Amino acid sequence: MRKLTRRTHSRALAAVASVAAVILLAPASPGIANPQDDKASIDERVEELQREHEGLSEDLARVVAELEEAEDRMPDAEDAVTAAADELSEAQRKDDELAARLTSAENAEKALQTEIDDGTDQIEESEQAVVGVARRAYQNSGVTSDLAMLLQMADSDNGLDGLTRVDSAVRSQQRTITRLGEQRAANMSSQDRLDAIADEISDLKDEAAEVVLEKEAAESAAREAKDSLDSLIEQKDSAAQTIEDNQAATAEELRKQKEEQERLADEIRQWQEDNGDGNRVLPGDGFLKNPAPGYPVTSQYGWRTHPISGTRRMHTGTDFGVPCGDPVYASADGVVVSSGVAGGYGNRVVLSHGKSNGASIATTYNHNTRNVVRAGQTVKEGDTVAMAGTTGSSTGCHLHFEVMVDGSYVDPMDWIS
Ligand SMILES: [Zn+2]
Repeated sequence: MRKLTRRTHSRALAAVASVAAVILLAPASPGIANPQDDKASIDERVEELQREHEGLSEDLARVVAELEEAEDRMPDAEDAVTAAADELSEAQRKDDELAARLTSAENAEKALQTEIDDGTDQIEESEQAVVGVARRAYQNSGVTSDLAMLLQMADSDNGLDGLTRVDSAVRSQQRTITRLGEQRAANMSSQDRLDAIADEISDLKDEAAEVVLEKEAAESAAREAKDSLDSLIEQKDSAAQTIEDNQAATAEELRKQKEEQERLADEIRQWQEDNGDGNRVLPGDGFLKNPAPGYPVTSQYGWRTHPISGTRRMHTGTDFGVPCGDPVYASADGVVVSSGVAGGYGNRVVLSHGKSNGASIATTYNHNTRNVVRAGQTVKEGDTVAMAGTTGSSTGCHLHFEVMVDGSYVDPMDWIS
């Protein structure tokens, strides 16, 4: 009994340890991510989206980042749900199998018990039979002991007949005694088997208790995986809905910005026609100085798909990560075409630099905190034209720098030495 208790105890410990192992492994399993990592990666993506799409609000950038994240994590979360369901059905199968083995062991126990009970009855009958032989002999002879009874039987009548009767009585008694011995041995062996089955039943119950713990852990893992997937689906659906809700308004805003850009480009083209580009000629194929030397390029010129409107949109300049208030420099000698507020561009300075290979060259400096030049003023390359900022359609301090060739936007990096 003590041995059994200790074994049960160590099994229970092993079961607890294996459940603990499942819990420890859980964070590394697919579909279950660390919320802090998610937060950091979403914050990073929000900044990236805002750098890539000037004027995109933080709220909308976050919605886009959350949608992307949910879509990224969905396959792993789906796999985790499948894996958890598999583990659960495996635990269920083990549970069913143990229950079947337990039932069959219990049936065997009942059958053996019946066998032992029958055996005991037979032993009692044999014992009665032995007693009966003795009693009958005693009654026939009137002597008190078996030996005396047998001697008396041998002496009575003629000797041969008496001996035959003794022989027959002894044989019969011997058979009865032999059978009794066999029955007792059979019953003892049945009792041994019964003890073995009782041990087996006790082991099966211990195992079943472990499997119940496994099954509970699997059930809770399956529930967690399902919850995790559900919350991803909810995150995805809600983000997609927000994007849809903002799609029309964003597309309209982008359309207006594009119109404004074209209008401003026309104004510059017109100014250059009217003013003869200031009659300057740039060296070579167009040689401009970096307007924000030492600052990183945070967003390149070029086409990109807007994450809210879903439409293709041209980023008409190069963004430099200049802190608000830091100076922005003229890329070349020139004349100030305009200096003022220009809608989404915020505070904007436009310079005309004359011709390069027959084409009129202009540069623009946008989102400034303030402009430090006036329209009509002549500037030298490297003069401060503005202090960088985040006015207009902008969500962080930076310089949006544009180069225009004959009134069309080109990639500024092709022009900066
Ligand atoms: Zn820009």
